[in-house]
Amino acid sequence: MTGVISLLPEHVLIPPSTGAEGLSRYLAGGGYAPVPEPDRLLDLIGAAGLRGRGGAGFPAAVKLRAVRDAPGPHVVVANGEEGEPGSVKDRWLLRHRPHAVLDGLRLAAAVTRAGRGCVYLSDDPAEQAVRRALAERPSDLPVDVVRTEHTYVAGEETAVVRRIDGGPALPTAKPPRPFESGVGGAPTLVANVETLARIALIHARPDATDLVAGAQLVTLSGAGDAALVEVPAGTHLKVLADLRGYGRAEAVLLGGLFGGLYGEGWTDLPLDHDQMRAAGGALGCGALYFTGPRDCPLAVAVEAVSYLAAQSARQCGVCVSGTGALADTLAAVARGEAGDDAVGKLRRWSEQLPGRGACGLLDAAARIAGTLLTHFPDRIDTHHRPGCPACAGAAPEDGRRFTVPVP
Ligand code: SF4
Repeated sequence: MTGVISLLPEHVLIPPSTGAEGLSRYLAGGGYAPVPEPDRLLDLIGAAGLRGRGGAGFPAAVKLRAVRDAPGPHVVVANGEEGEPGSVKDRWLLRHRPHAVLDGLRLAAAVTRAGRGCVYLSDDPAEQAVRRALAERPSDLPVDVVRTEHTYVAGEETAVVRRIDGGPALPTAKPPRPFESGVGGAPTLVANVETLARIALIHARPDATDLVAGAQLVTLSGAGDAALVEVPAGTHLKVLADLRGYGRAEAVLLGGLFGGLYGEGWTDLPLDHDQMRAAGGALGCGALYFTGPRDCPLAVAVEAVSYLAAQSARQCGVCVSGTGALADTLAAVARGEAGDDAVGKLRRWSEQLPGRGACGLLDAAARIAGTLLTHFPDRIDTHHRPGCPACAGAAPEDGRRFTVPVP
């Protein structure tokens, strides 16, 4: 079961009562206020320090400015396709707060001078909520709804553009990036739906811009109940884990599957892109998986990398062979059947493979392998012989262990 919790001193994106927010409630909270002078809004977003919530944590104002400054007609896209199996925040937002997302899209269009918007998603209830909200919103920005399949790579920004243009939802080589040449060749802002909702609330709540921009939606999961939580910037993982009884976890999988495995010391990690990166991990989309008492970090790594290998779009040779080799070698280590050179190979691949695919999937797989070696050398030693009960059943490619139901 997935709960919904706010740890903020006041409600921001998680309202006091859940259920889809209709137009009247959204308007009562200051939504759809007249569009301000675009440069002033851009300055407000920049001053608040808002960072994108799709995973990379790029400053939102810098991305908006890049699209605005590119020549030509512009397009804005609300990206609601969350491919990380352990994340539910984007689908929850589209289902429960569609007006905040659409208002953010309207404001992003004003800032970038875009004449056309698009909501990109794969979730049926989210699509219904968005279509209802589109029908009643007081905005004349033309907005299309584009469906995609639910895969790990479908939300990657070049895959988003390719799908909206009628192709498959698969990443393309960069450059060009969408801000240079995106939908139909136009400079395009592809923004995560949480980023857009926070832009809308920064505009509606000029008294609370720091709180709105710093807060974060996080999905917690593990052996017990899951939760979608909105927390202040910099909240430590221990605080989050204690909400669901995960405080004694041996390991945490960070950032969905993107941020790697973290062992001893995870309790002191804060939800902060820069500090997580400095610690060798990544915050990604803010999804955290905590191991349970009967888990083995190696089994978690095997399942995560097997899932990623199965999700490879199979476009880049290095990704197909790299994720496959990582998954097979990790599985052999977990079964106690690996050769003496297995750890050396995993170390070499974890250092050499990142950055060589067209998207971040290969990087995610390599980071899981690398962080496993860094944080759990003793656990790898104990797998020299078969017999780890947790690893005996490891390797499903369907990502079931990490999949969280949307609350
Ligand atoms: S890195 Fe892998 S998943 Fe990403 S585009 Fe290349 S083949 Fe596809």
